[in-house]
Amino acid sequence: MIGMAAGVVLGVVFNRIDSTFINTHIVAGLFGMVGTMFVNALKMLVVPLVFFSLLTGVTGIGDIRLLGRVGGKSFGLYLMTTALAIAIAILIALLVGPGSGFDMTGIDTTGVEGREAPRVWQVFAAIVPANPVAAFASGEMLQIIFYTILLGIAVLMLGGRSKPFVEGCEYLNEVMMKIVTIVMAFAPVGVFCLIAKTFTEQGIELFLPVLAYVATLTGALFLHLFVTLMLMLKLMTGLNPFTFMAKIRPAQIFAFSTASSNATIPITLRSVTERMGVDNSVASFCVPFGATINMDGTAIMQGVATVFLANVYGIDLGLTGYLTVIAMSVLASIGTAGVPGVGLVMLTMVLGQVGLPIEGIALILGVDRLMDMIRTAVNITGDAVVTTIVAKGEGKVDLALFNDPEAGLLAD
Ligand code: ASP
Repeated sequence: MIGMAAGVVLGVVFNRIDSTFINTHIVAGLFGMVGTMFVNALKMLVVPLVFFSLLTGVTGIGDIRLLGRVGGKSFGLYLMTTALAIAIAILIALLVGPGSGFDMTGIDTTGVEGREAPRVWQVFAAIVPANPVAAFASGEMLQIIFYTILLGIAVLMLGGRSKPFVEGCEYLNEVMMKIVTIVMAFAPVGVFCLIAKTFTEQGIELFLPVLAYVATLTGALFLHLFVTLMLMLKLMTGLNPFTFMAKIRPAQIFAFSTASSNATIPITLRSVTERMGVDNSVASFCVPFGATINMDGTAIMQGVATVFLANVYGIDLGLTGYLTVIAMSVLASIGTAGVPGVGLVMLTMVLGQVGLPIEGIALILGVDRLMDMIRTAVNITGDAVVTTIVAKGEGKVDLALFNDPEAGLLAD
């Protein structure tokens, strides 16, 4: 947190100083280099960590029915939270009405390209990898999850003969966790560099014209984070939301500074298992699954941005239009990975679907990085909440560990 705060302060100061030396050598050079090394180190962990922890998770569960229940419940809850998030966001945005009377003159809207919305059938068909090596090489999370579960089931079916293999995977899972510890040692410096770079490049002037959008979006994101998700946690598990918030904080800081749910998977996984006591058998499936299909924060952004642009262009979308936005955003969040800026790509699909001008995205482009950072923190919190709810339902949360304030501090 100190690294993050120092990064914000230095970034804002640097942003005010107009110097080529600072911009090219310190920010783009040094901060850029260290920040990229740090994000790469996290990404390098994702695929092997998901593979080994999920494989040990599946073989550890030992019961295929439980696996089916965990899969079904988490899928349902992920869809539900995303749909709820976007519906609330649209309501708030309709009440606040950002973008009405916006003056478009002098705004360059060239260079924004639209993307076609994926078909439902394509999204689901693509879950089965034709080539697992290609899936692992390109980090296709849903395909990796599918393949690993299938492998785990086959390993279970071979019974006793699988023992050496399972033990080898358990050992490699521990090795991966050790690498996470090593990378974590550099977290303060990495977070500092990423944040300092972002804030140096992010001029405050960009926020002023779209302040209404930024304020409505941030308000809706915080409402979902602190009220909707925490209420769900309390009502569905009885666990203390304040303890939960304290324990998920490291993952939120990582999500905020990297703007990538995928790169944050190792930290989310460790936070829920070692700090909250969620069993690896549930967490190893729910966390990477959520990082890919569950994007509450991103869905909220789709909702607020659509209402904002509809107001800017003076177009009334009507109930059908907004229902389409909800359906499209939920679908698009299933089919897209949790990487920086993907929310904007989804937005081009959503806008195209309801017939709003895609060039409108140019208006919010300048502020999107900061919004991406906040919504990614919301995204991974949603993943952790659903993971905890599913685990609690299966009796897979170690309550003593959850309530222990010292449990699994990540710097150990
Ligand atoms: N950056 C977000 C994530 O990784 C996705 C987005 O909203 O752009 O979860």
